[in-house]
Amino acid sequence: MGERYHLEPQTGVGFTLERGRLLKISDPRGEQVSDLTAFAREDVSEWLSSGRTIDYANTIYLTAGHVLYSNRSRPMFTIVEDTVGRHDFLLTPCSRETFALLYDFHDYHPSCFENLTRHLAAFGITPDAIPTTLNVFMNVNVLPSGALRILPPRSRPGDHLLLRAEMDLIVGVTACSAELSNNGRFKPIDIEIHAMEAEVADPAPGHAVPATRASA
Ligand SMILES: [Zn+2]
Repeated sequence: MGERYHLEPQTGVGFTLERGRLLKISDPRGEQVSDLTAFAREDVSEWLSSGRTIDYANTIYLTAGHVLYSNRSRPMFTIVEDTVGRHDFLLTPCSRETFALLYDFHDYHPSCFENLTRHLAAFGITPDAIPTTLNVFMNVNVLPSGALRILPPRSRPGDHLLLRAEMDLIVGVTACSAELSNNGRFKPIDIEIHAMEAEVADPAPGHAVPATRASA
C-alpha cells in the first residue's frame, strides 16, 4: 500500500511524487474542491501550466485521457480515471485577496494559496511561483457572454480523479477554503499514492505489447 494523506477541511499538503506513480484525489463526502499544483523535482522553475494544457487539449474541460503540461510543454500528468467529468483549470487558488476583492471579506480567511505556500516552502517554492491550479471537482460554467459562473461541484461521495505522474514531481494539494466553490460547506479530501498498476495503466504510446501476451 502506498502513501495516504487525509486532508481535514481547509488544509493542504506537499509531497514528492515519482514518475510513473499514480495519484488519486478523492472526495469522500461530495461537493468538495481540491486544488492541485506541481513543479518539476529537478528544477522548480518548471511548473504545471493551465495555458499550455488548455492549448494542447483544445478544451477547458479536462478529463480522462488528457495530458497536463508544464510551462516547458512537457507532460507532467496524464488523467487516467475521472468519475466526475468536470474540473476547472481557469481560476487561481483562492487567497486572502480573493476573499477581499470578490467577496468584500477583509478578516483572516484560510485559503488554498496560503495552504500551498505553507506546504511547498520546504521544497524551495516561493509564493510568487504558485501558478493557476487545477481545481479538481470545481464546477465553472462559461456563459455565452464569456462570464464565469461557479456552481456546486458535481462530485458525489467517493468520486475521484486518478493521475499518472509523467516526471518526478513536487506536488501540492488542498481541500479548498472558498465557500462558493464548495456549496457552502468545507469537507475533507483524501489522497492516495500507488505504484503503477498493470490493470490501471495503459502502455505508453509506441511501446510494444509485452511478449507474454502473445501465447494464446
Ligand atoms: Zn480554494
